[in-house]
Amino acid sequence: MTRIVRKEPKTLLNKGTGFLEGYSHSLNPYSGCSFACSYCYVRGMPVSLFRGEEWGSWVDVKQGAADVLRKELSRAKTKGPVTIFMSSSTDPYQPAEAKELVTRSLLEVMTQLPPDFLLVQTRSPLVTRDIDLLLKLGERVRVSMTIETDREDIRRAFTPSAPPIAARLRALRELAEAGVPTQAAIAPLLPSSEGFAETLRAIVDRVCVDDYFMGDGSGGKRTKRLGIDKLYDELQLQEWYSPSAYHSLLERLRRAFPPDAVLVSQAGFLP
Ligand code: SF4
Repeated sequence: MTRIVRKEPKTLLNKGTGFLEGYSHSLNPYSGCSFACSYCYVRGMPVSLFRGEEWGSWVDVKQGAADVLRKELSRAKTKGPVTIFMSSSTDPYQPAEAKELVTRSLLEVMTQLPPDFLLVQTRSPLVTRDIDLLLKLGERVRVSMTIETDREDIRRAFTPSAPPIAARLRALRELAEAGVPTQAAIAPLLPSSEGFAETLRAIVDRVCVDDYFMGDGSGGKRTKRLGIDKLYDELQLQEWYSPSAYHSLLERLRRAFPPDAVLVSQAGFLP
């Protein structure tokens, strides 16, 4: 059960830093995330630690966010190129969005005041609801759908509250067929089956791979602190918890996709 709290933010756009330094801004329509992925690095960040409640059990809805964004975006556009990563510490299409429509309201603002580029990072099929708005942004947007594995048993073990893999693949196909630029983000890479690369090739024309060691901003230390290695031990899949585990998947992806369509870590998320 997720506790929903409504808050009125004073600011919305944050400066892109660290992993997101290629972006001028990051944008989080919510605080908290009910998908509650076991490996979520936000669990160890101040927004979660100072809250004192289990990550995934609370979500703050940013009420009035569209008005704040309209003001901030107008100002930012006068200062230079605006590239936005949505979202870095929540999922913009988590279940609350179905009713709250915060993300949709932000997209509406962005169709009126288009940023130079918007990356929508989600693992939720709900993103297809907004195809009408995404199409208005044309080539200025890319939807990056997290598909860490093609194995539903692995998805259930690591992210039991997140949407099933098949539903995400269907959503990616729907977006691509509608003409929305897409990619599959195998991030973080989880244990997968041999046909994973071919499954993705049938749906998307671009993929990126990332893992805990390249992508958690600390060489894997943040993830280690979450105790994720124990999950690999329990599943007897220790060989997948290694800085070199991505090599074999990368090889398969490079056989299935054109060379410039397979990106690794930060490069796969750049504008
Ligand atoms: S969807 Fe993203 S923000 Fe939400 S819990 Fe999972 S990793 Fe964290």
